[in-house]
Amino acid sequence: MEAAAEPGRWVTARAEYQRGIMNAFSDTTVHTIVVPKAAQVGFTECVLNALGFIVHQDPCPILILQPTIDAGETWSKERLAPMVRDTPVLRGLVRQPISRYVENSLRFKSFPGGYMAIVGSNAPAGLAARPIRVVFADEVDRFKTSAGTEGDPLQLAAKRQTTFWNRKTLLGSSPGRKATSVIWREWLKSDQRRFYVPCPQCEEKQTLRWENVRWDKAADSEQRRVGAPFWPHKPETAYYVCEHCGNPWDDVVRWEAVSKGEWRATAPFNGIAGFHIPGFISPWLTLTDIVVEFLKAKDVPELLQVWVNTVLGEPFEDPAETVESSSLVSRGEQYGPELIPEGVKLLVAGVDVQGDRLECQVLGFGPREECWAIEYHVLPGDPAQQHLWMELDEQLLKVYPTEDERQLRIRAVCIDTGGHHGNQVLAFCKGRRGRKVLPIKGASGARPIWPKRESKAKKDFYVVGVDTAKDAIYGRLRIAKPGPGYIHFPVGVDFNEQYFQQLTCEKVMTRYRLGHPVRVWEKPPGAKNEALDTFVYALAARQALPIRFEPVPIPIAPAPVAGRPAEPPPPKSLFGPPPPPMPAEHEAESVRERSPPGGPPPNPGITPRPWRPQLRGRRILRSTYMS
Ligand SMILES: [Zn+2]
Repeated sequence: MEAAAEPGRWVTARAEYQRGIMNAFSDTTVHTIVVPKAAQVGFTECVLNALGFIVHQDPCPILILQPTIDAGETWSKERLAPMVRDTPVLRGLVRQPISRYVENSLRFKSFPGGYMAIVGSNAPAGLAARPIRVVFADEVDRFKTSAGTEGDPLQLAAKRQTTFWNRKTLLGSSPGRKATSVIWREWLKSDQRRFYVPCPQCEEKQTLRWENVRWDKAADSEQRRVGAPFWPHKPETAYYVCEHCGNPWDDVVRWEAVSKGEWRATAPFNGIAGFHIPGFISPWLTLTDIVVEFLKAKDVPELLQVWVNTVLGEPFEDPAETVESSSLVSRGEQYGPELIPEGVKLLVAGVDVQGDRLECQVLGFGPREECWAIEYHVLPGDPAQQHLWMELDEQLLKVYPTEDERQLRIRAVCIDTGGHHGNQVLAFCKGRRGRKVLPIKGASGARPIWPKRESKAKKDFYVVGVDTAKDAIYGRLRIAKPGPGYIHFPVGVDFNEQYFQQLTCEKVMTRYRLGHPVRVWEKPPGAKNEALDTFVYALAARQALPIRFEPVPIPIAPAPVAGRPAEPPPPKSLFGPPPPPMPAEHEAESVRERSPPGGPPPNPGITPRPWRPQLRGRRILRSTYMS
């Protein structure tokens, strides 16, 4: 299969846990299969296999639900089409697209005795009243809650199945937040099967858990090695510890153990089979990969959530979702716009447009998303008047000196087009794109803070994920000590009690829409929130910049070993943000931090080490998250 990282015929033994799902698919007592999962566990291959089976052996109408119609078309083009093309029996059955209707044929494929309709959860027309026997729904936690005004896409799909006694539904997703996760809600109704793996030493069967992943930490006396971005952590030493006998397993031992594993239900069966697939049982992930991702994410709440969702395959439980403004007022430090702390490497700004004024917040950022609030301007005046914008421009062109004698300018600015003065904003941004003065519009829901591309419908602004940004900001405000992700505030008139009240005025609420829990950010009626809005826009401006200070991740290039795929897993990380470093912008500091001179660091952590007893005198680090 071209679509997978490994070419060649399908071999279920490579990922033994997939066999259970395939068996459930042909088990007539199972009507629904629910798979909460990590990324990179081969779920799509399971879906494709099941599809191939239906087309070949048991043809019927099939509905394939993807989060969006674009995602559906991409899936059709990049995953489904290669499988059909490379599988002789399917090639003869699935009709080739007629070139004139290629667009359409990506979403609809017919074969003798049935068809596949590929639809997006955001496109209700695709869920029209056709009878459907089999539904595949992938990434259900990214679904739009309501398909247009008609309701839950999963319920709509289920309605189409009612005429079939042998209907079947397969749901898969990495879970999102616990309160609203659809896959987790469905999983709790299932028989909750977990994958039990026998220890090669004591043969006790166990589920693999993060608490049992260990890695070494350098002793204080040890010298920092070149190309060790997480020093003193040594993720390349990661291993798994049997929870019964305490023996360590390296990757090869773990993969071998996983190949002998079995599914066990942990709840009563009632027609719904649930399979939980954590990243630990994937043959495509090394423990080093998992620990590296953890170390990258652990200090930044929004990255930690992505890690929990896509590596552990678990939903994320939010800590209390408010921040007390009083806890922030006392945070003031002695610095200001006239002399900026050394840690700040770049500046960005966010601008909010009100009927009678502009508000502008300037933020500084350093390595690992440490952040400094720098300055807050309120510019009174009518935004319909040109001179107010000239005043803003003057502020945006300011040069800020730093403690270590650098001169910083604002590198990117996001301005809200959402108010009554959208046209003025667009006009102001138009001649200033080169300075990255960017028009934006906020949108709620699960979307990235900074879009992957400009808005498709209206090419003149960027759509910013304000809910995601607020999650990030509130998560970071809860970090109590300076370091990665921490937000510093200066003492001074700009950052007074009023500012902190505005910054912390919103609250996450769970509201029900069409019977489904939806997370929404709400501000008390009448409260002002410009400090939060401008913070959101400035954070978006930060994300619009391709500059990353994070060290180069250890490249994934596994050596071919027994039980391990010969081909490397897909090179791009499925773990979400942050995006990879881009070489386009040259800033001395960032370049220096990005990679040591003389090319990328040697690759210490890839070759699985041979069996190794624990050494004496070594500091062992125990993972603490979720233990
Ligand atoms: Zn054991």
